[in-house]
Amino acid sequence: MGALTGRTALVTGGSRGIGRAIAERLAADGATVAVHYGRSAAAADEVVEGIRAKGGTAFTVHAELGAEGDVATLWESFDRQVLEHATSTGLDILVNNAGVTPRGEIDETTAEAFEEAVAVNMRAPFFLTQQALKRLRDGGRIVNVSSGATRIALTDIIAYAMTKGAIDAFSLTLAKALGPRGITVNSVAPGIIDTDINASWLRGNEAAERSAAELSALGRVGRPEDVADVVAFLASDDARWVTGQVLDATGGSQL
Ligand code: NDP
Repeated sequence: MGALTGRTALVTGGSRGIGRAIAERLAADGATVAVHYGRSAAAADEVVEGIRAKGGTAFTVHAELGAEGDVATLWESFDRQVLEHATSTGLDILVNNAGVTPRGEIDETTAEAFEEAVAVNMRAPFFLTQQALKRLRDGGRIVNVSSGATRIALTDIIAYAMTKGAIDAFSLTLAKALGPRGITVNSVAPGIIDTDINASWLRGNEAAERSAAELSALGRVGRPEDVADVVAFLASDDARWVTGQVLDATGGSQL
């Protein structure tokens, strides 16, 4: 029996990067995992196949966040499939992880890039969670993936940082609203993690990798699993007395 046996989790953006590691870790802990994806259907299938190969339970859920009807599409797909994989309907763990990172200083940020970041990073988690509340069982968990950029001023991702600041306010406020139901709500704030989001400037660029590693007190760039393990803690019974918090998972960046 794993720590999450009998629980059902939904991980948005579970097809790649940090979300993929979270989906794999929650499944390894025994949860039935709904692996949400937007464009990467093949990658999401691969995550599910990998989980099943290790004896876990998972299924894919598709919705392009930010598109018309995104939240309804996602929940319709979840509701349609959940009973094929879990013993009851409903949800225990919601991880709002999917996100985009528009790059640019304030004078370089277009309205389109800004609006996409708001739609995917802010609006989607809000309304997805709103619709999750009727499915989420008492004692459940909500984990929102934020960013170290809410603590460390990084001028070239200013619009992104704003959306993640909003997520932290969301976690704080929702934690109070859902406390009476025993549901905890927390943010996890990663630092620089080696995923596709950073591929264009990080991968294969030794100088960039070195300076990214030097940001962390621990002297390396983060891995998706570094964040997934923190999310798994928050999703577990061990974190029952932690709510409304931002857990820094930046490897001690810019201390
Ligand atoms: P990746 O680019 O590796 O993966 C992003 C994931 O989000 C994919 O699964 C993607 O799904 C999904 N996604 C993005 N946009 C949409 C959309 N419009 N609709 C549906 N799904 C979407 O990113 P990371 O794993 O690095 O990032 C995950 C989270 O962690 C994000 O919230 C990010 O802001 C945060 N974060 C990341 C850091 C890092 O350094 N990597 C640092 C701090 C925070 P698909 O491909 O199927 O469309």
